[in-house]
Order: sequence, then C-alpha cells, then structure tokens
Amino acid sequence: MRKSDLKSRLSELAFNVTQNSATEPPFTGRFFNFFEHGTYSCVCCGSNLFKSCDKFKSSTGWASFHSAFNDECIEEVVDNSFGMHRIEVRCINCKAHLGHVFDDGPEPYNRRYCINSVALNFIKND
Ligand SMILES: [Zn+2]
Repeated sequence: MRKSDLKSRLSELAFNVTQNSATEPPFTGRFFNFFEHGTYSCVCCGSNLFKSCDKFKSSTGWASFHSAFNDECIEEVVDNSFGMHRIEVRCINCKAHLGHVFDDGPEPYNRRYCINSVALNFIKND
C-alpha cells in the first residue's frame, strides 16, 4: 500500500493520524460515543481490529476498548514522545497508528485501548 494512494483515499486527519501518529481532538470522533453492534477495522488496510462487545464508555472523548479483536491484529510499541511514557498501538498488518493503550481499563481486563475514530471503519453486524 503506497502512501500516495492512502493520501488520496483518506481524509487529511485520518492520514495524519494513521501515518504521522497525530491525535484527533477529543469528543470529535465518530465512535467515542457510539455503541452499535459490529466490528471495527483498520481504515487503511481493512484488517479487523476491535469488536463492539469489547468497547466501553469512558470519559476520555476517544473510543475505548478493553480488548483487541484478537492477539494478532495489534502491535504495541513503546512511545516516549512528548516527555511521556506511553504504549503506542498500531495495526500489525499495515503499521497504521491507531492510538495508545493504558492499564486503567475496567476489571478484569485492566486495559484501555484509546483509539482515534478516524483510524477505524465500522462494519455493522446483521
Ligand atoms: Zn491496517
């Protein structure tokens, strides 16, 4: 997948988030307060990344999941940018930046995948 193809296909914000690790402003994304049943996939390559049943309401203003779609769809990378120690979350297939994962999610998972809505597509379940 070429970057020039992605640039023409994605919105400017989606391109900057997935390719340049930008962050969408909180409370603006399509999915931060969205709870329909379905599957979330990578906006760049279409890989399945998250399920609606693993999504939970958080006050952060970003889409929050306690688990990924499976153990093999997400890559976690240490991110020490901006003077913070965070774990970056990427699509393992195409390396698109999705967001970060924190350890303050709900029991018993204790994980909170904090994901930019523009990095995701939603496929509604029938
Ligand atoms: Zn991808």
